[in-house]
Amino acid sequence: MAKRAKAAGRTRAGGRSGAASANAALKAVIEDLVAGNRILYNEGVVDGFGHLSARDPRDPNRFLLSRARAPGLVVAADIMTFDMDANVVGKDDRPVYSERFIHSEIYKARPDVNSVVHTHSPTVVPFSVTDEPLRPIRAGFFYPAVPVFDTRDAAGWTDLLISNAALGRALAEKLGNNSVVLLRGHGNAVVGPTVRVAVYRAFYTEANAKLLLQAKLLGGPIKYLAPEEAAIMEANRARNRPMHGSDRIWELMRAEAMGGSGKRRR
Ligand SMILES: [Zn+2]
Repeated sequence: MAKRAKAAGRTRAGGRSGAASANAALKAVIEDLVAGNRILYNEGVVDGFGHLSARDPRDPNRFLLSRARAPGLVVAADIMTFDMDANVVGKDDRPVYSERFIHSEIYKARPDVNSVVHTHSPTVVPFSVTDEPLRPIRAGFFYPAVPVFDTRDAAGWTDLLISNAALGRALAEKLGNNSVVLLRGHGNAVVGPTVRVAVYRAFYTEANAKLLLQAKLLGGPIKYLAPEEAAIMEANRARNRPMHGSDRIWELMRAEAMGGSGKRRR
């Protein structure tokens, strides 16, 4: 009897710690979503539009995304939960982003993706409307490719917004196994295994586009990052040495965006 009670106690304790760790994971993801939204705004990657989501750590068939609000203003209380059809979970009638289907359809198609960024990243847009491909100078994650999605191919004349599941699905298909897809005349969608990596990639997608434009102004042939070099860079990043990868830039950009360093770059 005593033994059984002890075992039951252990089970209860295990359950409690399971729930506690799920809550801790949720809190950490929401904190990163808030910081990530502020960073993307502070660094000029998004303006009043654009959004950042994360797969729900409690349920892989749900995702977390702010209510329809400018990214630079997002706080933890704005984060809402959506299912894989981009419907709101629970009773929550706050306004939602019309382009939330970008997120739901990418999460459905890509089990390896835990965070999605959608931006109108200004230097990226010219590469979506010309034949000039967005090729890597610094961004190793541009391999295998940075495809361009055109709403015209999927749905004819539209307002260019990914405002239904069919367009979201077509976009996710164009993204394939890549990390970045451009949206013609509109912006991009960038994915990653975590919020921090997705934000880092969205920032360096814009930075790489700027470098490429500048290199083209100088003229002559450009030495792009080779796929072999990109593979070494990505492998080094995956080793995750503290403060040698995206965590170093995250710490700085978070401090700036949340007011910690008192300096705003734009
Ligand atoms: Zn958009």
